[in-house]
Amino acid sequence: MSTSPSRKRIVLLGATGSIGENTLRVIAAHRDRLELVGIAARANHRRLAEIARHFAVRHVGLFDNGALAEARAATAAFPADTRLYGGLNGLIELAQLPEADLVLVAVVGTAGLRPALAALAAHKHLALASKEILVLAGKFVMAAARASGVRLVPVDSEHNAVFQCLEGHAHAVVRRIVLTASGGAFRDLPADALAHVTPADALKHPNWSMGPKITVDSATLANKGLELMEAQWLFGLRPDQCQAVLHPQSIVHCLVEFADGTMLAQLAPPSMTFPIQHALLYPERASGTEAALDLQKLITLDFRPVDETRYTCLRLARVAMNAGGVAPAVYNAANEVAVAAFLAGRLPFLAIPEVIDKSLQTTANFEPADLDAVLEADTAARRTARSIAAHLPV
Ligand code: MG
Repeated sequence: MSTSPSRKRIVLLGATGSIGENTLRVIAAHRDRLELVGIAARANHRRLAEIARHFAVRHVGLFDNGALAEARAATAAFPADTRLYGGLNGLIELAQLPEADLVLVAVVGTAGLRPALAALAAHKHLALASKEILVLAGKFVMAAARASGVRLVPVDSEHNAVFQCLEGHAHAVVRRIVLTASGGAFRDLPADALAHVTPADALKHPNWSMGPKITVDSATLANKGLELMEAQWLFGLRPDQCQAVLHPQSIVHCLVEFADGTMLAQLAPPSMTFPIQHALLYPERASGTEAALDLQKLITLDFRPVDETRYTCLRLARVAMNAGGVAPAVYNAANEVAVAAFLAGRLPFLAIPEVIDKSLQTTANFEPADLDAVLEADTAARRTARSIAAHLPV
């Protein structure tokens, strides 16, 4: 395959998840501008082999060492000159691949943290899809991005939308940003019915097709809470300048209000290919991977305030943001533990915010000196949350 110097060379960490699959659609639709040079996933080596063959990718990483051993035993499935990378160090090496221009980090959980920082250290542009990176280490990641002088473009639809609306505006004229939330699967359910919803109910998201954890997070609005924390770091705002509004159609992804009271909004159909394409091609634009909004059809846009007594997770996110330190990391860890317990049938839906609340209350907050301190706080918070969850009635 010829490598045109004008093509942007992409490393995709988290190639087999829903962001990864959408990224592949974008790259396939823009092969004249984008070239995939490295991919990684947690364990799905069969899918990685398919992707490697389809996109002629030679650098392939597996986080899980068991899966790496299986892949080594099945190298015939990969292109002949494939180089396999294993574990966290493998992901870090991929993030610093000499031939890469941009690294898209879409791995689930905290595994993307060190690779993201490694990419910045190697002066790679960074496209961020993993929430944990900014929620846990926003301070360190933003400092590293500033120091290396590269571009950090958010991939999450709301943050990407804010990024687009802020372009050309001085920081000082931004009054607030408002991220939209669909309200998730239970938006129109009476509040007293929430006590009895099941994991299967929670997984029916009205607008977006995503993994189980984030779909539950959409129903509790913990997802929006984490997004507010991310936005605070990405755009250098105070917690009170980062807000959310319910918008059932998921067509407007953000509103940015400026000092004069004017608001800019960003609109696109609810598909991740739009923000992913923007992040990969930025600062250029090209024809879309999918069709734009069809204004020949009636489009209704509704906005309503978030009822924080119903969406307790959003209120708690604000508590964690105001507390600062490791509180956002504790929020994230407790939520992850609680959602896993809910999905396993071990915790009722309404106990998710309870686990977060109790975890925040029982954890001593502090300002972390480095990434290790954050990761230790994360591990400790998971332990605390598991013990809290275990003592709550099923
Ligand atoms: Mg989002």
